Amino acid sequence: MDDADAADDTADEPTEEAESLQELVNYLTPRRDNETMATYQNTTSIACPACGKPFDYLVVCKQDQTSLSLSNVMDLCVSADHDGRPFLFTHE
Ligand SMILES: [Zn+2]
Repeated sequence: MDDADAADDTADEPTEEAESLQELVNYLTPRRDNETMATYQNTTSIACPACGKPFDYLVVCKQDQTSLSLSNVMDLCVSADHDGRPFLFTHE
C-alpha cells in the first residue's frame, strides 16, 4: 500500500492506542464487512498490538453486542478503539 499521506508517524509519543488501531486496519486486507462486524486478513504479518506476535485476522465489532461463531479453536487478543468497539485479533 502506498498512501503518500499515511507516512511514517514515527511514534515520538505513545499517543492513543485507538489511533494506531485505525491505522493498522489500513494495512490489512478486507475480507468481510456487514452491519455487525468487519473482518480483515493480516496478509503481511503485522504484529498484534496486544501480544506482539503476528495475527491472522482482525475482527472489528460494530455493535455493542455481537456473537462470533468460530469454526476453530484459536487464541484471541482484544483491544478497543476510542468508541469502545472491540478489535479482536485471532491467532491460529
Ligand atoms: Zn495477540
